[in-house]
Amino acid sequence: MIDKKKDPDPSKCKLVKIQGVQTNSDVSSSVINNQEEKSPYAQFRGSKTLFVTDFSSLAWCEFQQHYALIAGGRKETQAMKAGTEIHNELELQDHDIVSILTNTKEDSWGIKLYNLIFGLDSLLTSFKTRELPIFGFVSGLFVYGIIDQVEMKQMGDTFEYEWVISDTKTRMKPFLPNQTNIPPSVKYQLMLYKKLFDELAEGVIDDIKIFQTLQLNPDLEFSNELANFIKINCEDFNEKEKEFKPNLRNLIKVVINHFGKIWKSSNILEVSYKFQKDGRDLGSLYFEYDENQIENHLTKSTKYWKGDRKPEGVPIEEAWKCRNCEFADNCEWRLDKIKELEQKKRALIEIT
Ligand code: SF4
Repeated sequence: MIDKKKDPDPSKCKLVKIQGVQTNSDVSSSVINNQEEKSPYAQFRGSKTLFVTDFSSLAWCEFQQHYALIAGGRKETQAMKAGTEIHNELELQDHDIVSILTNTKEDSWGIKLYNLIFGLDSLLTSFKTRELPIFGFVSGLFVYGIIDQVEMKQMGDTFEYEWVISDTKTRMKPFLPNQTNIPPSVKYQLMLYKKLFDELAEGVIDDIKIFQTLQLNPDLEFSNELANFIKINCEDFNEKEKEFKPNLRNLIKVVINHFGKIWKSSNILEVSYKFQKDGRDLGSLYFEYDENQIENHLTKSTKYWKGDRKPEGVPIEEAWKCRNCEFADNCEWRLDKIKELEQKKRALIEIT
């Protein structure tokens, strides 16, 4: 049974999402300043935005993440390509996507907020949405992410209806992995999505702090194409056109209003698996949100991002990860470990 919000509001945005196409003028803010003495946050996140995966991927190998940042990204593998295609296909099953040119940083964030309102409308009317943007602060650092899917489902021992957050992963093998094989990076990714989603649902949105952190002008009107799109597709802006100018200050008011109708998500998180070869559904694995675990991970990760500690490579028991690592040949952590092992071997030979 649904025990809250039995009569959701009718949809305010039409069934179409938007994606931004950058023009030259809004690229400058993301230029990376490569000065070694700066923290990774200052060096690699000039836009002042960390992504959810910036925290979760540290759980796989911090050195790998660090090298990828220095290299300007990871090489796209066949698995990544297949994963993106499956994600795009899934999203297009639910709605169309139109492209709109962005001229300013404010336009880019306007698109994110519009898509968030669109997603919340979908939750309130069809109890499901895909690719939902979310954001918040972790130890003062602004974090942004896109949740693969949120859906109303009966969960847990009480079988009550809850918002269930899930992430889709592709697999090369045509069957589900063992429950114990859900990688910590996947768990942290989902737990951070839940934490951010729940904070927004509880009304924790400091819009002034967001605008200041991202150096956004909340009163700057969006460029024509986006402003017209929002006026046509969002009733809030049609009705009150005169006092409700299409800008970030007003768009975030609509976001806050929509989150007022949404409640916290389930403690059960879902990993949905698809077969990489043909996108076939392989089923889902579930695990429980662990507040301590995610807080500890975020505290540790924040120290790396703020430059309070150096990155760490994988422990020796997880050296198998190095086999498929594109940075293995020059990885200083791995080379140090090999040196240490050789020294130990030599010492052992000398003793015997
Ligand atoms: Fe991490 Fe191993 Fe790759 Fe080095 S080689 S970055 S320790 S996975």
